[in-house]
Amino acid sequence: MKKYRCTVCEWIYDPAIGDPDAGIAPGTPFESLPDDWSCPLCGVGKDMFEEETE
Ligand SMILES: [Zn+2]
Repeated sequence: MKKYRCTVCEWIYDPAIGDPDAGIAPGTPFESLPDDWSCPLCGVGKDMFEEETE
């Protein structure tokens, strides 16, 4: 599963970790996050994230 990076604050969504504070279980792909999910650091929506490429 791919990681996604917030283009505003550089926070990384790692599907292996999920977002426990928002009730997102580990193993949840970015694509499966609810539409109203937002960046836990800066609060922007999913459309402000882009795929992390290294
Ligand atoms: Zn952010």
